[in-house]
Amino acid sequence: MEPNGFYHAKKYCPKCHDYVRFLQNLEASYCVACGARVRLFNAQDKRAFVRGLAADRKRAFSPTKRKRVS
Ligand SMILES: [Zn+2]
Repeated sequence: MEPNGFYHAKKYCPKCHDYVRFLQNLEASYCVACGARVRLFNAQDKRAFVRGLAADRKRAFSPTKRKRVS
């Protein structure tokens, strides 16, 4: 895995509405531009990420049913 991948280098700032460089302490990460707490994903990406996890889990629990979600 590349150490300088997109999600390693930047996080989503809800104030800047963009992926930004950030400062990190033990509890949270903060936007270097505005100081707001940043997240790993924006809401849309997080939904897609969680949906992907749910789909994987569903496949794992019911290997005989290859039914598509949605
Ligand atoms: Zn910001």
